[in-house]
Amino acid sequence: MAQTFHLTCDCGAIQLDVDGTPVLSAICHCQSCREMYGVDLFNASAWPSEAIKRRVGTGADLIAHRQFGRRMWRYHCSNCGRLVHGRNRRGHIVIPNERFRAANEDSLPERVQPSVHLFYAQRVVDIADALPKHPDDLDAVELDSTDV
Ligand SMILES: [Zn+2]
Ligand SMILES: [Zn+2]
Repeated sequence: MAQTFHLTCDCGAIQLDVDGTPVLSAICHCQSCREMYGVDLFNASAWPSEAIKRRVGTGADLIAHRQFGRRMWRYHCSNCGRLVHGRNRRGHIVIPNERFRAANEDSLPERVQPSVHLFYAQRVVDIADALPKHPDDLDAVELDSTDV
């Protein structure tokens, strides 16, 4: 059985136990992710909600932020402010892969290595790596959506 990942925010009040394998791990270049997460590209994995157990400690809460006009949310710890995860329009939990790196001695576990670039047609930086570069999303699988 695969290892359970234990992710936390910076203050430890929000804890995520993550089991199984992601629906997709990818590097997303879409404009929605740029606006939502404030990054040029977004290295993240999408998980079925049943793969995630979320615990919120006392003295903290999860603050939800919905991107205006889109069915995308991100959730922050009210105590330390750390982005804990997002949610896309398909109901998948979207976890920045840096969270897994932080929980795994600064290296990205094999199980969450990105397999593809998405929305490469919307990129603002060129990437020279061996991963396939998809101009938009994959069939029914994406980290986020440009749908309004
Ligand atoms: Zn916190
Ligand atoms: Zn995106």
